[in-house]
Amino acid sequence: MSAQPQPAVPQGELDARLRESSFASLPDAFYTRVTGTPLPAPTLIAINPDVADLLGLEDTALQDPGLADLLAGNRPPPNAQPLAAVYSGHQFGVWAGQLGDGRAMLLGAVEHAGQRWELQLKGAGLTPYSRTADGRAVLRSSIREYLCSEAMAGLGIPTTRALALVASDATVWRERAETAAVVTRVAPSFIRFGSFEHWYSRREPERLRQLTDYTLQHFFPELLDDKNPVVALLGEVTRRTAVLMAAWQAVGFCHGVMNTDNMSILGLTLDYGPFGFLDAYDPEHICNHSDDSGRYAYRNQPEIGRWNLYCLGQALMPLIGEVETAETVLKTYPQLYATAWSAAMRAKLGLRASLPQDQSLCDQLLALLAGQHIDFTIFFRTLGSLRLDDASHDAPLRDLFPDRAAFDAWAVLYRERLRQENSDDPTRKRAMNRVNPKYILRNHLAETAIQRAQDKDYSEITRLAGILRAPFDEHPGQESAAGLPPDWASGLAVSCSS
Ligand code: AMP
Ligand code: MG
Repeated sequence: MSAQPQPAVPQGELDARLRESSFASLPDAFYTRVTGTPLPAPTLIAINPDVADLLGLEDTALQDPGLADLLAGNRPPPNAQPLAAVYSGHQFGVWAGQLGDGRAMLLGAVEHAGQRWELQLKGAGLTPYSRTADGRAVLRSSIREYLCSEAMAGLGIPTTRALALVASDATVWRERAETAAVVTRVAPSFIRFGSFEHWYSRREPERLRQLTDYTLQHFFPELLDDKNPVVALLGEVTRRTAVLMAAWQAVGFCHGVMNTDNMSILGLTLDYGPFGFLDAYDPEHICNHSDDSGRYAYRNQPEIGRWNLYCLGQALMPLIGEVETAETVLKTYPQLYATAWSAAMRAKLGLRASLPQDQSLCDQLLALLAGQHIDFTIFFRTLGSLRLDDASHDAPLRDLFPDRAAFDAWAVLYRERLRQENSDDPTRKRAMNRVNPKYILRNHLAETAIQRAQDKDYSEITRLAGILRAPFDEHPGQESAAGLPPDWASGLAVSCSS
């Protein structure tokens, strides 16, 4: 039998632009080269124009017929060899040992406008770190990650991004048969707290040194001149994490699985799984149905951020030496968090100045919202329209409260406070509408996009992404996406199964 000529692999612009990731410059011990598991008949179901712009990809690159195969992990790019990184971590407060990219592979890197972006395929198949799992991600969770990373970017919150979503009819078993999908995630780096914990737990200080040097050189070069760059790194990650936690709390975002392997060394929101946004304000809210103890409840997130930083600090101890030095840095967290949180709350309330009574005004409001089960997002967005000198227009706000008198009592204090800084209605409203989103990714919105996609209608993903990328804007005709969740949404459960 004579050999059949191989069909030419269409190679588009992204193929040509992908280079070896800088992570591959680390020694072999940090990763394993992988080829992915072929995904049958992949279809590109969503592509993100904002991320394409970040990467400097032309429209023609997005129409490339070979793109779906490339982003399914079905063939390597010509100039880069994909890899899966090793890391470890604490899961739900317990040391879990080695984990690693069990279903993600780093495809390569793209440079544009002075920034180098790594492209990672989540769900591209088995790696040496898959343990007993299948290396896949289901369509449902991939749509949620695609939409939420773009929603977070739209909210101005540091996050990994999503370039594209590829789907296939291949069956993936979770509690039931589902289908597979792959998200192309984009970030300067996917290094986690757990990447450092890995070498600390293995007692390999030389590897720890290599990873830390790499991180400093590539992502924190400004810290290299510090007299102790490792301490400076811990300080900067502490600051970024505190700021990130405050940003999550201020929009009611719950991550769901804040294990140390899901904490980005760059301070990005990373690894979207059973996340959720608060509907009614409830500090005890647990978005992840697998989180029986509520370890990752909304109210605990800032403290878990701190706990995770202590794990990072511990891992860096062989390089830092003095425990006191690390502790001095870590002890800055509560103040950094408190400062970021109160600045965020002042902005949400439309306050320009910072006065001593603001804390109490804010605490009283949050107690009221919790007690009355008021929708967090709708309340703050509506609050922007309050008229300082005319309570007769308060109906849209006070009608949100079962106990209207309780709102009226708080509104008296709020108006007093606004008068103290001569607040001007239109100016305040404009400022508040820039920090209080109209649109967030509520579970029921994602669920509708998922159900349509399961019937092969992918238009809802693109429609929602379009709204969420500008969540502070009015989107005429799309008001239903800004409303209270429908009754059926209370039955939605998201868990670690993804
Ligand atoms: P996560 O809870 O999603 O952050 O994942 C924790 C660990 O399990 C990581 O090492 C993942 O790569 C791995 N993992 C999760 N789901 C799968 C899967 N379906 N196949 C292989 N590895 C997985
Ligand atoms: Mg993870």
